[in-house]
Amino acid sequence: MRRNAKKVKIGDIIIGGEEKIAIQSMTNTPSGDYVALYEQTKRLVNAGCDILRVSAPDISEAKNIYKLKCEFPNLPLVADIHFDYKIALECISLGIDKIRINPGNIGDEDRVKQVAQAAKAANVPIRIGVNGGSLEKEILAKYGSPTAEALAESAMFHAGLLEKYDFDDIVLSVKSSDTIKMIKAVEIIADKCNYPIHLGVTEAGTRYAGIVKNSVGIGALLSRGIGDTVRVSLTADPVEEIRAAREILFSLGMFEKKINLISCPTCGRTKIDLITLCEEFEKRIPLLTPSRSLNVAIMGCVVNGPGEAKEADIGIAGGVGEALLFKKGTIVGKYKEDIILDVLCDEINKI
Ligand code: SF4
Repeated sequence: MRRNAKKVKIGDIIIGGEEKIAIQSMTNTPSGDYVALYEQTKRLVNAGCDILRVSAPDISEAKNIYKLKCEFPNLPLVADIHFDYKIALECISLGIDKIRINPGNIGDEDRVKQVAQAAKAANVPIRIGVNGGSLEKEILAKYGSPTAEALAESAMFHAGLLEKYDFDDIVLSVKSSDTIKMIKAVEIIADKCNYPIHLGVTEAGTRYAGIVKNSVGIGALLSRGIGDTVRVSLTADPVEEIRAAREILFSLGMFEKKINLISCPTCGRTKIDLITLCEEFEKRIPLLTPSRSLNVAIMGCVVNGPGEAKEADIGIAGGVGEALLFKKGTIVGKYKEDIILDVLCDEINKI
């Protein structure tokens, strides 16, 4: 059962409650380079990014985020702010959809109050994003290291600072590069409050290792109903973060894909270059236009393939120099290997 988190509106998207899990990423171009920022944003939107975070190290870069907002009015934008409350105020006045800031890092109480009041007046939510690498000295001293309990305490401390000024339009995240620590920290805050939670393993590494760590961490929590939005942090093109997040959500039945590719692991019976065939098919998926979601199988042999993939709506099974086309486990044709993918794609487009 899903944890019943408070609903928070970020631009046109609502997270929390029973709302769908929103997929986030963050641009990695310099925010001052507007052309690069725009191009990357376009790619991320096309990949399926629901909410996009952009760093705002200074006021002029905050103005570029505003320009971006004008060109992508339906894309909720989050300004990532560290330490400078004036940039937070500027972003709020420019119409940003959410800010990510840790109120304890922006100076005295009057500054926290100004940001909380401005955000409240503009209906701009605030994400408190706690990371293992940036914990307060006092909390670190208390726990000795960035433990799960320390991360959770820091998040609740920052939330308390905003609550003091009657601000509760809050999203929380407690991230660590240690998957288990991240899971435990999220469990603690999930018990202590009902704010929506942004999930992710931070500094998770390059594509391969990073996707595994995030899939385990995010998947473990989402499978138990905890979490409302996700970011798969990778040292890679941020488009990969979106692709990975979609696969995680799909594997949990929280995302619908146009084409779900089922392919066998290959074995000594494999009669066709299955790996190349599947890679080629994946490239063609964006161009396919079936009228409904489909399970498509690409299997390595004609002996077991159609049977092993009988749940698939449509599929192919490779023989020597040729392949069978099947639908729901029933063979409907035999084609030369060099045209089988074209046939498969044509048949998918007819469904
Ligand atoms: S479908 Fe055929 S080739 Fe693929 S794993 Fe099964 S037996 Fe092996």
